[in-house]
Amino acid sequence: MSKIHNFSAGPAILPQSAIDASVEALQNFAGTGLSLIEVSHRSKEYEAVVAEATQLVKDILQLGDDYAVAFLQGGASLQFDMIPMNWLGEGETAAYTNTGVWASRAVKEAKLFGNVNVVASSEDTNFNYIPKDYTMPADAKYFHCTSNNTIYGTEMFSFPNTNGVPLICDMSSDIFSRPFDAKQFDMIYAGAQKNMGPAGTTLVIIKKSFLEKRVSKKIPTMLDYAVHIENGSMYNTPSVFAIFVCMHTLRWIKSIGLEAMEVRNKAKADLLYAEIDRNSLFTGTVAVEDRSRMNINFVLTNTAYEAEFLKFCESKNLSGLKGHRSVGGLRASLYNALEIESVQSLVDAMKEFEAMKK
Ligand SMILES: *Cc1c(COP(=O)(O)O)cnc(C)c1O
Repeated sequence: MSKIHNFSAGPAILPQSAIDASVEALQNFAGTGLSLIEVSHRSKEYEAVVAEATQLVKDILQLGDDYAVAFLQGGASLQFDMIPMNWLGEGETAAYTNTGVWASRAVKEAKLFGNVNVVASSEDTNFNYIPKDYTMPADAKYFHCTSNNTIYGTEMFSFPNTNGVPLICDMSSDIFSRPFDAKQFDMIYAGAQKNMGPAGTTLVIIKKSFLEKRVSKKIPTMLDYAVHIENGSMYNTPSVFAIFVCMHTLRWIKSIGLEAMEVRNKAKADLLYAEIDRNSLFTGTVAVEDRSRMNINFVLTNTAYEAEFLKFCESKNLSGLKGHRSVGGLRASLYNALEIESVQSLVDAMKEFEAMKK
């Protein structure tokens, strides 16, 4: 079978080493003679997987013992509820930016628990930029932002000074794509299936001093971050397969390093944006300074060509380029594991399509 170039927004492309290790472990996990999906999560071989995945996150982000890491279930979407449930008491206020569908959903859920101050929103222009001018309310229990807006293709390349307000970020679609100072965050979370592993687990990273500031009210056990952290992601049966794939993906990320990962990702994004800007048939949809390196949104200037172009791409083994159903157009997701050769193939197809329409 010839190579399929996978531009899917998520679940998405993973490093071949993680896929090969998974195939092997499905047959015989760590020499146990059992499949990874039929082995006890309490076996010493599997406990070592969770321990290594947890340590790799800390190593890659250079975090010490003042941070806790856990792998949870329920997706990034459950974090939209768990965060206010753990840190926002009735009558208290949390600050949010509204920069896309996922951010809007986070706002919606937080409102079930307390007051939400949406300090900035780009909704008026269909989320095509990252708002940067806003004031941090001093009374906020925390400030929540989304570093990469997967559906719209905007990305935050710097984070606001919160003046002591705890900083929480949904990094589902750009975590581990470049170096950043993780220590400025009180909490980071990311669904695995965009840039870190398969669907089924969500990474949470929490500063221990912030964990201690949870609401005084009783939190349902499964929704209490402290319970999952105290139990090493093993309070209940974890997502055994997903965490295993994450561990192998994290090994690969660590072996490359975040500095080199950024160089790779920037080269890929620059290559595609340059073609979008050069090619008369295509137009980028977001503010140039906020262009995401992970999800690149663009449209055909003549929308009548869209279906034909997507079909043309399919014939060239270019997969997953249709924009999200809520925005339409095209979206190329260039996550960590995508090679620059795949981006070059897309660029070549765009050039060929332009020549066909001349
Ligand atoms: C995909 C995505 C989500 C939702 O993730 P689920 O794991 O499906 O709940 C949330 N936030 C961002 C930024 C995403 O890209």
